[in-house]
Amino acid sequence: MRKEEYILREEIYGAHNYHPLPVVLQKGKGVFVWDTDGRRYFDFLSGYSALNQGHCHPHIIQALCEQAGELTLVSRAFYSNLLGEFMEYTCHLFGYDKLLPMNTGVEAVETALKLCRRWGYRKKGIPSGKAKIIVCENNFHGRTISVISMSTDPSAYTDFDPYTPGFIKIPYNSTEALQEVISDPEVAGFLLEPIQGEAGVVVPDVGYLQACYQLCKDNQVLFIADEIQTGIARTGKMLACDHEQVHPDILLLGKALSGGTLPLSAVLADDEIMLTIRPGEHGSTYGGNPLAARVGIAALEVIVTQQLAAQAQKMGNLFREEIRKIDSPMIREVRGKGLLNAVVTKPDKGKTAWDICMELKEKGLIAKPTHEHIIRFTPPLIITGEQLREATTVIRETFEKI
Ligand code: PLP
Repeated sequence: MRKEEYILREEIYGAHNYHPLPVVLQKGKGVFVWDTDGRRYFDFLSGYSALNQGHCHPHIIQALCEQAGELTLVSRAFYSNLLGEFMEYTCHLFGYDKLLPMNTGVEAVETALKLCRRWGYRKKGIPSGKAKIIVCENNFHGRTISVISMSTDPSAYTDFDPYTPGFIKIPYNSTEALQEVISDPEVAGFLLEPIQGEAGVVVPDVGYLQACYQLCKDNQVLFIADEIQTGIARTGKMLACDHEQVHPDILLLGKALSGGTLPLSAVLADDEIMLTIRPGEHGSTYGGNPLAARVGIAALEVIVTQQLAAQAQKMGNLFREEIRKIDSPMIREVRGKGLLNAVVTKPDKGKTAWDICMELKEKGLIAKPTHEHIIRFTPPLIITGEQLREATTVIRETFEKI
């Protein structure tokens, strides 16, 4: 089949809730993907940071294949030989008492909202029905009704109302804004992304996370970090919160927790919070299945043994250094941490981020715009210095040509 036919088939039979770049992929290995015509591309989206370990990492694929032939699902009605091991490994790695497994990222967010409200009523003593959770403007935490109720992006929430109440929205990167609302005794938690990914890789000021964490401690409010995109070594540390020595009360992981193979997310917290949910009060048919548990361990092992946090730090510095050298009137700003980066272009120069991504694709590198004038660059963390230089040459030549 020709490329156009694959695209047309998706157009005809699929809901139109995405607008993909016109490239049809059929193979991936490490930092590269290949299209149906055999053309190779650098993958600079990495499945929205789910592929930190690279495509089809042999250690993860081996675990996946071996376990697929053994046992894939028991549901939580029974125990499996692997779930406890995954929980223990992950709890030790991140320093928590307990883990609650789910599947997609947004399910982890929903779980955290329930857990936070429950803790608010049972531990903080908030009167029934009154719990509030503070969230940040321009957040992205997923697509369910409750989660879009926290959104300030009209394309996420318009005409999907009525919304879930109980959220207070404040500007991101403003401790003053947090200070103004956090002393309300009905506030149970503060949910944030340590770097706002979908908003365009918005990195808050140094000290912001630590200051927010302190305000939460001072006011008996849970600090909930959505590290679904920033976590698992993406920003040059295991967690983005590690850059400021902040240990969230509730930690949310997803995406790279399975190295791009299957949906696996997790909520981590200590007993005081986690044990407020009792049997029958929350769950998921696939959450914590043995296949995901085995893959989850393998995916985290790759991060640890290949020291991908340090690699992301090093390659991220190189990336920003190389991109900042580009002499183009189109580039307004290069920002990011580790290998979570974005180039902000100047809106008055006639080309959108989409146009630039189309050019990049022609030259063998795929990336995706977030918003009209921001391109996110998030390669797999296993990228080598040589590969990164080759990729930044492609980016430089594209900007120079435009
Ligand atoms: N939270 C953050 C910070 C995200 O970036 C995303 C997805 O991009 C989500 C939550 C939702 O994850 P999922 O798409 O797996 O539901």
